[in-house]
Amino acid sequence: MTEPLVVMDGLTMQFPVRGGMFQRQIATVNAVAGVSLTINRGETLGLVGESGCGKTTLGRMLVRLLEPTEGTITFDGEDITHLSGKQLKPFRKRVQIVFQDPFSSLDPRSQVGSSIMEGLRIHGVKDKDERHQRVAEMLDLVGLDPSHAQRFPHEFSGGQRQRIGLARALILKPDFVVADEPVSALDVSVQAQVLNLLKDLKAELNLTLLFVAHNLAVVEHVSDRVAVMYLGQIVEITERERLYSTPLHPYTEALLSAIPIPDPGRTRNRFTLQGEVPSPLDPPSGCYFHPRCSIAQSGLCDVEQPSLLRSVDSESHLAACHLRTGPKALPPKTVS
Ligand code: SF4
Repeated sequence: MTEPLVVMDGLTMQFPVRGGMFQRQIATVNAVAGVSLTINRGETLGLVGESGCGKTTLGRMLVRLLEPTEGTITFDGEDITHLSGKQLKPFRKRVQIVFQDPFSSLDPRSQVGSSIMEGLRIHGVKDKDERHQRVAEMLDLVGLDPSHAQRFPHEFSGGQRQRIGLARALILKPDFVVADEPVSALDVSVQAQVLNLLKDLKAELNLTLLFVAHNLAVVEHVSDRVAVMYLGQIVEITERERLYSTPLHPYTEALLSAIPIPDPGRTRNRFTLQGEVPSPLDPPSGCYFHPRCSIAQSGLCDVEQPSLLRSVDSESHLAACHLRTGPKALPPKTVS
């Protein structure tokens, strides 16, 4: 049975844009616009979209590095949307984030053991020997030698630094981890190692994960379900196998068709995205995707914003497209 751990309801994040001599607010950017999603205990939800679509902002709201402008976040039954200061401390212990760039997220002047240990100190593990013991165990768990605790970040490769980032995030035994593009800065060969490690750690530590990436090829390996985000909104969500075999939203089709096939004998239908991602300062009318959509219907798609609706043949497959869900549903194109 699936049990929700994180529930987002109408989550919205707006950033003011300031300008002029007095730095007055001249506009508002809707980085995340009314996202409602559930992440179940023990699952990995992949969150995918192009740069600037709001996926990192969403992840940062969930670990409460950002306070949402509107909507609510419920974590394990408790509303944590507007907690602050001391109220956040127990929550911080249970929720962690792994950043994209492991080098800039580590203090270059601190030995890595000290950086990993910081969370233990903050959360009251007073016994020094216990702290060192737990750091050694954690380094071992992420595939590094415990003696590396005395080294500095510059002495490690990119993949090793991301392992250190994982050790630091997991030392407090969190329930929920947001992995924000954890392999984007790594070479392809190292990416696979870190993804496998993440998968093993998730199983061993019974974690719930939000895995953020800009590439559908990366999340396929680790996710149970995948959500696709466009201009601050979720446009499609379903189980991993279904999303990759039967995508509904034209944007998902385009992202999928961009994944290279490692077999030169096979080809794939290409759905090329037209134009640039619109500015979130001035999103298009109707469906935000309509200026780039190859099947957009004039008078409908440019006027009415589609809601996230169930697919005709699956309870768990939702998409926001007038022509792919609801009464006018067209069959999706097959991405093979
Ligand atoms: Fe394309 Fe219209 Fe569907 Fe938007 S609602 S994705 S514009 S077909």
